Amino acid sequence: MSARIGLKHIQAIAPYVGGRPIGEVAREYGLDESKIVKLASNENPLGIPQSAKEAMLKAASDLGRYPDSNGFELKQVLSTRLGVPVDWITLGNGSNDILELAARAVAQFGDEVIFSRHAFAVYPLATQAVGAKAIEVAPTATYGHDLAAMLQAVKASGDKAKLVFVANPNNPTGSYLSAKEIEDFLMTVPAHVVIVLDEAYNEYLAPEQRYDAIAWIKRFPNMILSRSFSKAYGLAGLRIGYGVAQPPLTDLLNRIRQPFNVNSLAQAAAIAAFQDSAFLQQGFELNRAGLTQLTQAFDSLGLTYLPSAGNFVLVKVGDDDQAGARINLELLKHGIIVRPVGNYGLPQWLRISIGLPEENAAFIGALKAILAQQ
Ligand SMILES: *Cc1c(COP(=O)(O)O)cnc(C)c1O
Repeated sequence: MSARIGLKHIQAIAPYVGGRPIGEVAREYGLDESKIVKLASNENPLGIPQSAKEAMLKAASDLGRYPDSNGFELKQVLSTRLGVPVDWITLGNGSNDILELAARAVAQFGDEVIFSRHAFAVYPLATQAVGAKAIEVAPTATYGHDLAAMLQAVKASGDKAKLVFVANPNNPTGSYLSAKEIEDFLMTVPAHVVIVLDEAYNEYLAPEQRYDAIAWIKRFPNMILSRSFSKAYGLAGLRIGYGVAQPPLTDLLNRIRQPFNVNSLAQAAAIAAFQDSAFLQQGFELNRAGLTQLTQAFDSLGLTYLPSAGNFVLVKVGDDDQAGARINLELLKHGIIVRPVGNYGLPQWLRISIGLPEENAAFIGALKAILAQQ
């Protein structure tokens, strides 16, 4: 009999499945890498900003040294723009790091962590990694967060509830919560429960959808705001994001993070990208146009899709539970990588990241051809 190695709650975790790398798909289907279109991981189709590349080149000469453990310069820039002191900011190895730090700081065995069904895949991972129990709350009819039901779940959980994850906009559904809905939620969740507001796609919100989350951080000591440089800022490969919370909570996150959790190149690139408003604006406009391009095509194909506040859109490609996997496979053969979301409990849907106009067009062309064959 072989010895069983590893903790039970770790063995129970379903590993994260990401968008498939271009090289892998090229090898498997015998395709030319340069012709493959990847619309699978909500990356910025413009790539990394030139300003960030230049900053990295400068920082490269110092890579023999450890990074600044406290991210002094980047925190200065964030602090000034956000209007919070530097000791309210935690830098993360991607905002994924912030989500995990939050779980590790406040939840353990016997505790419960609450989030919406069809929300970001890292919430169950972070929850299970600390041995806590995930409470998945049924979404609204349009697949968004049902905050009233989430509040009920928090109350029903009583003292066991330690953490709530709320994504706005949510991935993979693209759903959006108004400022009023979030504020009402923040005001009614008990003070012993920490709320992470995950704003990985915040920069893509339309002007009339925007709100001041920092004002809430100042009011609610049990709130963590999480933001990313991976999406709108085009730095996904560098792994950098940040959290904002009042000092007692920030102090907890700081105690458990790796001392050098954010590398020097990422810090340098983030400083440049954060100040590159032209790049952000260009990406925003490209995203708006791409969303229109995709949704018009879905309309003309008679496909159902969810209204998206992010840089991706969820489209229903069939009525049976194999539809997502089936169409995804056909798209791969055409050299188009999108994201099947069966692991999110949405097997009839595909999530399409919004790309460059020609990338969107290649996807639409392939989808049309595939659906005509079905
Ligand atoms: C992509 C994503 C993140 C994490 O991104 P990082 O690359 O780790 O910063 C966090 N939350 C949501 C909802 C996301 O979609």
